[in-house]
Amino acid sequence: MCGSDVHYFPPEGIDMSDNRFEDIPFNSPVQPNQLELETKFCFNCYPGISCFNACCKQADITLAPYDIIRLKNRLGMSSGEFLKKHTVPFELDAHGMPGVKMRTTDIDPICLFVDEEKGCTVYEDRPSACRYYPIALMSSRKADEYHDEQHYAHVQEDHCMGHKEDRELTVAEYREEQKVEEFDELNRSFYQLILKKKSTGPALGKPSPTSFQLFFMVCYDTDRFNEFLNAPNFRKIYDISDEDFKLINKDDVERLKFGYRLLKQVLFGEHSIPLVKDAYKNRMEERAEILTARQEAEAAYSRAKDQEPFEKYIED
Ligand code: SF4
Ligand code: SF4
Repeated sequence: MCGSDVHYFPPEGIDMSDNRFEDIPFNSPVQPNQLELETKFCFNCYPGISCFNACCKQADITLAPYDIIRLKNRLGMSSGEFLKKHTVPFELDAHGMPGVKMRTTDIDPICLFVDEEKGCTVYEDRPSACRYYPIALMSSRKADEYHDEQHYAHVQEDHCMGHKEDRELTVAEYREEQKVEEFDELNRSFYQLILKKKSTGPALGKPSPTSFQLFFMVCYDTDRFNEFLNAPNFRKIYDISDEDFKLINKDDVERLKFGYRLLKQVLFGEHSIPLVKDAYKNRMEERAEILTARQEAEAAYSRAKDQEPFEKYIED
């Protein structure tokens, strides 16, 4: 029977000190139960279902880096144009870590990509959150563990009739059907960075505005990140082969992967990218070079001051 092996909170084997569900608001449609890859649930969605497009007319879609790459390339836009036209900024945490959401119509939260008859007009490149719905992907990391874990939860909203359909499948089958693997792989480091920032919060303190600008540029504004990489000072600091640099220059995905490594290095001091030999003779010099790189980020952003919604990541 549909939904028969969905187990409810607290599921067996879950450590109650685990905080993976603590961010779910009391009245959230996200059900406080953990789904495993093999958990079966009941769902189907297809053109012609009575609620067709209902979810896209109540859209609250947080975008991850690979979502933006897919959408801006589909639309033939630069990342800057896409951000300006199709997104709104918001804060991922109390420190103001930058996030972006999909822009909707002003009065009702109707996704700008939905067509009454055709449904999603960017279907092949729709964001990860749209692919997963009605499953929520949640990342968590226990304080005493280094690696993050991914979990799944069920989202049940009254407008969605898909839950009443007589089709049973596992979370793993649904992930495969929705082709989320590639999105998960390329967005995972983004979630890890956010978790790491959150879990090291008091120790790390509030990152500087320049760090947030770098995070914004790497994760969301990949074309501007490319300009930043091509500034004269960058390769005086970071040791990158010509072959790798060419690849990073021309391929958005390779640039994103490199950007994650750069963020780990600049934000958390991980030595994930080799430095040019003798570039730093001592710690003070290293610090000065990193500051120079950060100043390049500021300079790149000062050239982007026409991107009004993102002034706070652009201004000093
Ligand atoms: S991107 Fe497509 S699937 Fe996602 S909310 Fe918009 S129209 Fe719906
Ligand atoms: S079944 Fe759910 S996901 Fe599908 S169109 Fe209806 S509301 Fe959207």
